[in-house]
Formats: sequence, structure tokens, C-alpha cells
Amino acid sequence: MSTPEAQRAINRGASVIIPCLLVGTVGVATYVVVVRLGVDYLLRPSSDLQLTAAYPVNPRRGTAIAIIVVYCILLALMTLPYLRTFQVIQTNPGYIRRGPHAQRDQPPAAQAPKSRPSSAPVPRPPSKNALPNPTPAAAAAATAPPPRPRPQSHLRRHRRPAPGLERFYAKDAFVCDMSGLPIFCPKCDNWKRDRTHHCSEVGRCVRRMDHFCPWIGGIVSETNLKFFLQFVVYAALYTLFMLVVLAVFVAEQVRIGLGRDAWLIGILVCSATFFFFAAGMSGSVIQMSLRNYTTVENLFKGNKTYFIAVYTGPQTPQAAMERPLYPTVTYPLRPTPGADIRQFAILQTKPGENPWDLGALQNWRELMGYSWLEWLLPIKYSPFCKHGARYEYPFGPVLDRMRREAGLSSR
Ligand SMILES: [Zn+2]
Repeated sequence: MSTPEAQRAINRGASVIIPCLLVGTVGVATYVVVVRLGVDYLLRPSSDLQLTAAYPVNPRRGTAIAIIVVYCILLALMTLPYLRTFQVIQTNPGYIRRGPHAQRDQPPAAQAPKSRPSSAPVPRPPSKNALPNPTPAAAAAATAPPPRPRPQSHLRRHRRPAPGLERFYAKDAFVCDMSGLPIFCPKCDNWKRDRTHHCSEVGRCVRRMDHFCPWIGGIVSETNLKFFLQFVVYAALYTLFMLVVLAVFVAEQVRIGLGRDAWLIGILVCSATFFFFAAGMSGSVIQMSLRNYTTVENLFKGNKTYFIAVYTGPQTPQAAMERPLYPTVTYPLRPTPGADIRQFAILQTKPGENPWDLGALQNWRELMGYSWLEWLLPIKYSPFCKHGARYEYPFGPVLDRMRREAGLSSR
């Protein structure tokens, strides 16, 4: 078994085992904090404790109730987004529909190679409007390494493009390859919407895929990233609370001669471990969310460039005669009489630019919602799940600048 396939098998197995372990651990933690510490030690100390301890163990009703109430609130806050994430994974994980030639049953080794061999020719743009003598900007785009040869190989194989291109060229801008076609996934046999990534573990293209998470038993994507973030933040608070409370009372029990309670110490160690994991994950997701990166995009953000097809707007006869500053593609690829012709400029971002960065606050709102209640509770989907008519996801100032530089906008 190849290493990537072995890793995927491990991830799939872990996605079943880890949620069960989590539920079991939380059950034991609840017993320890509520029953063993809250009731048996603080609320109604048993006569055995009184006999064993070197000092009197008095009932502390207020402390017990406060600990139990805060524990239950944090447990509920952590559990709700966890269940919501789990429910979304089962019902609406954000998969892209497969095409008729999708590679459903083939093992990974038999699937199409990811990249073209180095001796293969560089694909030619299908647009008849592409410039024969490109400008420096276009030349730079043309000399850049061909990022995605899949659409062209797909076109050659099937002679005509897969259906569904109209969903892209009906918009004002979309991510494309250097020829102006949307990115194509040969495994799913379909076009990839902006920010879509093919997930090997589930064998599907996933909208705004973030990562495959064994802790929640599935894929984190546009539909559940918000709930996942709420879960890890509340999990950090929940484990921190237990860490502090248990550390205090373990120390107290040792001090008054009761010795070390293995139950309390076991959950204390688990709390410390999960706290550092959950806090680290919370910090990482929040940081990426404020910059509008998914985990996948964050991995390649350093030198990543995007080709973006940008609608040039209605063309006047005079403008159509002028040579544009950019390569273009015109849709439909095979126009029929009376078809609505839409021309797109093929523009390229600078290395490391994120065209979807709207600024930290707006990035946060697009993920978490526009009210405090949405930030705190797993009620609504993220606003960016409502894909607009003009864009799959809102573009930021980077696209405005590219439009200006290409002469497509004066703003
Ligand atoms: Zn795919």
C-alpha cells in the first residue's frame, strides 16, 4: 500500500474511532467533575473522607453549584457546534457534483496522473481573441509555468467541454487556467468552482475545502468551518476550565492528606492535552480566517498565483477594434446565432496575493455572520455560503487593482 493511500486509510479509520473516544472521554470527565468532585467531595463529603483527611472536609455548597453550572454551560456550548458540524458533514458537506466520467471505482494508483509530463506541449488558449503578440503582462502570464493543464487534456479527450461552463461565464469573474477555462477535476469529471479542492479521503471536490478532520469524522468545508471553529474555541475554554478546577482540588486533596485521586488526575492530564490541541487549533483557524485563507490555500500561499477571468463588460465597436492589454477568452466557446457573447480578460495575481481578502473584519463577518449571536451559537451557515450571482465568493481589493491596471475600470 502506497504511503499516501496508507495515510488516507489511517485518516478514514481515525475519523470513526476518534469521535467515539471523544464522546467516551467527555462522559468520564462529566462523571469526575460533576459527581466525584462536585457532589461527593464539595457538596456532600462522605464520612470516609472525613475519617481519611487530616483536616475537616466541610460541605461547600456554593462552590459545588458554581462548578457544576459552569461546567454544564461550557459542555453544552462545546457539544452544540460539534453536533452541528457532524450533522452538516452528513447532510450538506459542500461536495461538487460528479460528471458522467468520474473515476468512482478506480484505486488511486490507476487514476489519471496529476500533472502533465515535462515533455508535453504547453496547451494553447482556445480563445480566438487571444493576442498573437502579447503585451509584457500577457507575456509574463504566458511564460509562467502552466499551472493547470487538465482542462486542455480534458477537451482533447472528449472533443467538447464538459457541460456547466455557463455557470462560470454568467459571473463577472472566476478562477481559470491560463487559457481562460475554469479549473477541471479529472477525477470528478467536472469543473471546479472557485476555491474548490479535491479531497482524497472522500474522493470528491469540496467547496472551499479546509481540511479533513478525524476529530469530527469528516471534511471541514464552507458549510461547517464556522461550526468547527466554534467547537474548537469552546473546547479550549471547556478544557481550560477543567484544567484549572482539577489542578486546584487535586492540590488541595494532597495538602489535607487525602492523597491523589486517580480519576481526577487522569482527567486533569486529558484536559491539559486537549487544551493545548484545541487552543492551538483555535488560534490557527482564527488567524487564517482573518486573512480569508483555507488551510489548503494557506499551505501554498507563498508563491501562489491565480488566473482570473474577468468580464470586460459590453464592448463598443470602437473598443472591440483596439488591441487590449490582456489575453482574452470569449464565451460560449462555440457560440450559436443569437447567443449572449461574453468576453473575459485573463488576468493574473501577483505571487502570494489573496484575491478574496476583504480585510480582517469583513473576512470574519463573511465566515461568522453579522451579529454576535451568530458568532457565538451554531445557528446559521456562514454568509459566504450564499454564492452571489456575480462571484462565487466576493473578491477583494486585489481584483479591483487588477481591473484598473488592465484598463477595465477607472476606480
Ligand atoms: Zn474532484
